[in-house]
Amino acid sequence: MRNVYFDHSATTPVHPKVAEEMCRYLGENSGNPSSFHSPGRIARKTVETAREKVAAILGARPDEIVFTAGGTESVNMAVMGAARARRKKGNHIITSAVEHQASLYTCEALEKEGFTLTVLPVDRYGLVSADQVREAITGQTVLINIIHAQNEVGTIEPVEEIGALAREKGIPFHTDACHSVGRLPVDVNKLGVDLMSFAAHKFNGPLGAGGLYIRKGTRWERLMYGGSQENRRRVGTENVPAILGMGLALELAVADMEKSAAYFTVLRDRLVNGVLSTIPNCILTGHPSIRLPNLASFCFEFVEGESILLSLDGRKIAVSSGSACTSRLLEPSHVLLAMGVPVDVAQSSIRVSLGLGNTEEDVDYFLAELPPIIERLRAMSPLFGCEDEECSEGEDCFACTAKR
Ligand SMILES: *Cc1c(COP(=O)(O)O)cnc(C)c1O
Repeated sequence: MRNVYFDHSATTPVHPKVAEEMCRYLGENSGNPSSFHSPGRIARKTVETAREKVAAILGARPDEIVFTAGGTESVNMAVMGAARARRKKGNHIITSAVEHQASLYTCEALEKEGFTLTVLPVDRYGLVSADQVREAITGQTVLINIIHAQNEVGTIEPVEEIGALAREKGIPFHTDACHSVGRLPVDVNKLGVDLMSFAAHKFNGPLGAGGLYIRKGTRWERLMYGGSQENRRRVGTENVPAILGMGLALELAVADMEKSAAYFTVLRDRLVNGVLSTIPNCILTGHPSIRLPNLASFCFEFVEGESILLSLDGRKIAVSSGSACTSRLLEPSHVLLAMGVPVDVAQSSIRVSLGLGNTEEDVDYFLAELPPIIERLRAMSPLFGCEDEECSEGEDCFACTAKR
């Protein structure tokens, strides 16, 4: 049996060169970057070199990059820090209905502090409209918070347009770019963002390492207190090997970005066409073209996404149902619901996300394994009616007797 990992949106394997470099560092160095002796200076240099690298790639200045322990932490810091810093100016936050949980729940937590939220709806493809952002702006608006590439369905939001609008109105703008940094060209000035979150493990870097871009001059309040690391914006001893790994991973991802995107597009299209042409009652979710090259998400009516996931896992194919974070809850995805997908259909969703290690053979194996799984699960599903309008099997036809 092949072993196919199709869940690169949940996390990606560490690039071998990154692992090698991190192991080398761990074997050779032990200094704390805040120490003044030579091991400390080596650690400091390692962190600052990575910072320069990351900053240059994202179009930022090194002192605008704060290293964190991951995407969720960056998003929390960005949203809370920017909103609270402007609390005297106003209390209104504009966000979207298709944010990652990290954003969604941070905004909800701010509501408890007295902020009011406008959660913008999306169209059937999961797109937020810049016009709606414009209409939502009030004199009280202190933050606009819109995801860049949506992590469940792959739709790419019009962040550039929203960024231009935010600048015109002088309102800070944060984008959760955890799903785009390393996968799409991302430049903080082109996007017009004031704050931007990213996570190393989404671009073949290590887990537990992320970054937050804070544009110079942006009013921002820190969340943590302690030492003086990261200019007091994120305190605690730096995770030096992970920061080193993140810098290298981003460099490698960006160097090969065009090639990888072209490669993913071919594989993804083969997969999407294969699924849609062999399985009835199946829809591709997300925007048909304004989407990430490596992600496809589907709904297979009348079956539970979790059952598909487990059946595929039995065939050594790893995918996710809905989003990785909600998939333990058996709750339909808030993203699909926001896109107007009915609850029962939303519960049948599967996300396939490709990575550099995937091949055409992986896709073909998936395309061979999936249809019988869906067919078997549908045959057992009380929701799936018999498709034969003149079925004469009566009680012997499970689908007929199970018909709603
Ligand atoms: C993965 C992800 C996060 C969370 O990042 P962690 O590093 O896992 O905390 C946040 N937002 C988006 C869009 C993501 O894809």
